[in-house]
Amino acid sequence: IDIFGAERKNSKGLNMNIISESTPFFARLDKFSSNQWQAGPLVNGKTLNGEVNEVVSPFDTTKLVGKVAFADTQAIEYAIASADAAFSRWTRTPVETRAQALYKLADLLEDNREELIALCTREAGKSIQDGIDEVREAVDFCRYYAVQATKMMAKPELLPGPTGELNELFLQGRGVFVCISPWNFPLAIFLGQVTAALAAGNTVIAKPAEQTCLVGYRAVQLAHQAGIPTDVLQFLPGTGATVGAALTADERIGGVCFTGSTGTAKLINRTLANREGAIIPLIAETGGQNAMVVDSTSQPEQVVNDVVSSSFTSAGQRCSALRVLFLQEDIADRVLDVMKGAMEQLTIGNPSSVKTDVGPVIDATAKANLNAHIDHIKQVGKLINQLELPAGTENGHFVAPTAVEIDSIKVLDKEHFGPILHVVRYKAADLDKVIDEINSTGFGLTLGIHSRNEGHALSLADKVNVGNVYINRNQIGAVVGVQPFGGQRLSGTGPKAGGPHYLTRFVTEKTRTNNI
Ligand code: NAP
Repeated sequence: IDIFGAERKNSKGLNMNIISESTPFFARLDKFSSNQWQAGPLVNGKTLNGEVNEVVSPFDTTKLVGKVAFADTQAIEYAIASADAAFSRWTRTPVETRAQALYKLADLLEDNREELIALCTREAGKSIQDGIDEVREAVDFCRYYAVQATKMMAKPELLPGPTGELNELFLQGRGVFVCISPWNFPLAIFLGQVTAALAAGNTVIAKPAEQTCLVGYRAVQLAHQAGIPTDVLQFLPGTGATVGAALTADERIGGVCFTGSTGTAKLINRTLANREGAIIPLIAETGGQNAMVVDSTSQPEQVVNDVVSSSFTSAGQRCSALRVLFLQEDIADRVLDVMKGAMEQLTIGNPSSVKTDVGPVIDATAKANLNAHIDHIKQVGKLINQLELPAGTENGHFVAPTAVEIDSIKVLDKEHFGPILHVVRYKAADLDKVIDEINSTGFGLTLGIHSRNEGHALSLADKVNVGNVYINRNQIGAVVGVQPFGGQRLSGTGPKAGGPHYLTRFVTEKTRTNNI
């Protein structure tokens, strides 16, 4: 039951197969097909000037999407000082009022869905379906954290004590939370971090990924419109090396919520350790080397469906995406044969077209790194299939979906964040070795299992050290409140986003013993 008396339900999103929903949706979406957006540091509700950067579409770099001014040192100082000053007021604002604003934000996100999807498509190169899912997830985060915060914080917890003594445990915000997000979920992860921190009574400085500042800026404008005070939520676009580094080194901040690569999380951890001021939490959700283990009892067509969607949806740019498929040798040829055909069915192209399955990767650096890895891994292993890039993709950052057979997960030096699937064959007798190899990567984000032997599947799920296990389905698209998401070890600190324990690290505890 939610704070407003009804059962909280996840957003329905939009079903493109229902014509009465999709026709008006596409008409509204079309209005943003050549829109130009402007963004800049949003400090106390005012958009400040700064060095202006042009934003071009990853699909076609000749197409301008808008312009963004990056925050300079003055804007950073102004934002920190203002968020710091607003903290005492915001943390004493009743949690129900904070929650109400987040519910309103969820409504505004739905009202502005087409613009936000157009931004995700044009600025981040996401497909329309990904855009729909992105808005839906952002909406769910708003409502979920509003409800969780209210449950946790509306009343202190009464504790036992001697007669006449009142013992109470209070949860309070920690201070200024710095929220640093990646470009691959520029709305959902961006707002997931921000809304959790706000619901728990923190003021927030949000730094979006430098590639996706326009969508972050729009989200913050909507949050202000929803009633989040402008001094409580500050927005600082810019690079990690400048804005991110300055924010995390500042002794006035009360916590950091970070999603991105493992390397950056470690860097931030060192910065926090070396700075003056309090010892503060780092909540980090990071990369993975995600495997799927398929045994000979599984159903090949279902396996292929789930492998293709887990590896190539969003051009493989999901932290949960499948990177290494372990196929039991008795079934391997059959699965690979069907998979080659299924890959050929993928439509690569303009993410703004509803027919597109695989859009571009985020930028030229990502494209170059992924293509270098493909060249290398084709030498080390055996190519299974590499799709041709169609005409019309020349001006964009496209990488051909590729599958390569390799001997061992150990030949992979790091996470390769794109549409590249590695396949390893294993013998049934070597399953323990497979488990050891997956665990030896040090990552622990997602694991897929395909098996019709339940005991076998559950045992694997238990032995592989990951945060999210998916049995007989794809391993992407965690749903808020249904599959709380986040990894272990090199993949993150926990607690899980969209889960019942997430807010616990955004708060501090106070016990009051009263003998008056
Ligand atoms: P990234 O390079 O680590 O960047 C993430 C964010 O950190 C960006 O906003 C970045 O700014 C900022 N940053 C960079 N250096 C910094 C510094 N020294 N101090 C403070 N902030 C700094 O990661 P990415 O390439 O954007 O995202 C892809 C990675 O995210 C993959 O590894 C993926 O697996 C992971 N990911 C994990 C999850 C999860 O839930 N576990 C979800 C999504 C993505 P810039 O804009 O300047 O780079």
